[in-house]
Amino acid sequence: MATGKINVSVDNIFPLIKKFLYSDHEIFLRELISNATDATLKLKHLSSIGEAKVEYGNPLIEIKVDKEGKKLHIIDQGLGMTEEEIKKYINEVAFSGAEEFLDKYKDAGKDAGIIGHFGLGFYSAFMVADKVEIITKSFKDEPAVHWSCDGSPEFSIEKSEKEDRGTEIVLHIADDSTEFLEEGRITELLTKYNKFMPIPIKFGTKTETLPKPEGAKEEDPAPTQEVDNIINNPTPAWTKQPADLKDEDYNSFYRELYPMQFEEPLFHIHLNVDYPFNLTGILYFPKLTNDLSVQRDKIQLYQNQVFVTDNVEGIVPEFLTMLRGVIDSPDIPLNVSRSYLQADGAVKKISSYITRKVADKLSSLFKNNREEFESKWNDIKIVIEYGMLSEEKFFEKADKFALFPTVDGKFYTFDEMKEALKDKQTDKDDKLVVLYASDKEAQHSYIEAAKNKGYEVLLMDSPIISHLMQKLETSKENISFARVDADHLDNLIKKDEAQISKLSDEEKESLKTKLEEVITDKGYTIQLEAMDSDSAPFIITEPEFMRRMKEMQQSGGGGMFGMGNMPEM
Ligand code: ADP
Ligand code: MG
Repeated sequence: MATGKINVSVDNIFPLIKKFLYSDHEIFLRELISNATDATLKLKHLSSIGEAKVEYGNPLIEIKVDKEGKKLHIIDQGLGMTEEEIKKYINEVAFSGAEEFLDKYKDAGKDAGIIGHFGLGFYSAFMVADKVEIITKSFKDEPAVHWSCDGSPEFSIEKSEKEDRGTEIVLHIADDSTEFLEEGRITELLTKYNKFMPIPIKFGTKTETLPKPEGAKEEDPAPTQEVDNIINNPTPAWTKQPADLKDEDYNSFYRELYPMQFEEPLFHIHLNVDYPFNLTGILYFPKLTNDLSVQRDKIQLYQNQVFVTDNVEGIVPEFLTMLRGVIDSPDIPLNVSRSYLQADGAVKKISSYITRKVADKLSSLFKNNREEFESKWNDIKIVIEYGMLSEEKFFEKADKFALFPTVDGKFYTFDEMKEALKDKQTDKDDKLVVLYASDKEAQHSYIEAAKNKGYEVLLMDSPIISHLMQKLETSKENISFARVDADHLDNLIKKDEAQISKLSDEEKESLKTKLEEVITDKGYTIQLEAMDSDSAPFIITEPEFMRRMKEMQQSGGGGMFGMGNMPEM
């Protein structure tokens, strides 16, 4: 047996690792399973190019909890390590073997989907264990090795009896980390981080019900058998080619991602690019729901099928964080601050690629199936309108497909709307005046009055619509928006000549005096002449700019849906 000292510059690196390396102790398991996956994929690669003369077979990674012994085992059937390799790869802290391997096999290695890049991966084991053992046998014809380290920089290394190829990591779980001896906790971690990793991961067994044999009686119990409990799907939908997937496949993957989500997604966008950066994924437009537990479902970020985070802020433009799905990219730098991410060139490119793909998908949906697009408008408008406000590039594209519904259920694009209104709704300066209602019920009589005059009324009821109108008024020429109950109605040129109140002059005078006694706020105007409807003999209006100002003060600062501040207007 040999002992030695781990080659690090700081003597007491372990307490440092424990405290500062990762704030999230639970990621140790992700790191160790990533290593086991790497080791398996490396062996697959070496055997495929004839460098490892081994039967690759169908290797598994196994996780075992030994509650009494206070141990957690991570066992793989990968390429293993020789004594030399342990000294080189394990004893030299912060020396990333994955990087060296990648260097050697460069492009081939990339194709093999090697993970790595998590830095001090293996040593994160010391965040939860006070002693770690490695028992490993290399695919090379060399004796198995047993390495052991109790958290001080001292380690021991000796021969081992292990016969089958691969590596077993044994963690002696520390007293402050016994949660990781609970099966439930481990299942939770495996489901969170490893659900889509490329090598099958076994955690215990489960009972499977078999079909009843022919001629079995009704009351006979169905036969059962114990099978490996594989916790992951090694080939999730996003790793496949869009051509190989049907709508059902996308929908069932959605349920796999969000098991508590019962609504079908509205549509999906398959992302797939390998230059100038590598990225795959599937994004979904969710159906809006009031169920808060479901609203918490978010886009998940993966690297080579390993879950990293569901906080994609800085990677995906803010307006798209309302979508769901998966983004998998090895090119997104990890363990860096959000502000670094936002400044990173590659990340910027990724963000604009995603924005473009989403706009293209919406645009093709609009072109190819307008009816369906219209039927989904209510669920998707908030994303589109928010995108138009916050991303100029998106605005340019969405301008062609963003819809403006009327109170009667018709849908106009911006250009169609202009065309439809240009002859009937202009003011004295020839400016197009778009009348809209924000609440069909409450503004019913105003809507009726406007319709009686031959005007068209749009239904604009999303919470950020006043910001969007403002933007359209400034970026487009000669257009203004006015709510049906605004004082604008009388400024329209196409003033109906037959617009005569049903009241006599005396009746009007006395009504006006009475109303003015009640309505003392000078911000409102009482118009007796404005309406000719059976439902209302007079209307009270408020100037559009006054109302909008109040509205924007209410929604402006606080940010929508927790999405931070509204863009500068
Ligand atoms: P990285 O994975 O970034 O290289 P780690 O600290 O996680 O860094 O692992 C260091 C090295 O130890 C790996 O690159 C690999 O060479 C070796 N290693 C770790 N775990 C295993 C394993 N289960 N089987 C074979 N080699 C392993
Ligand atoms: Mg690693």
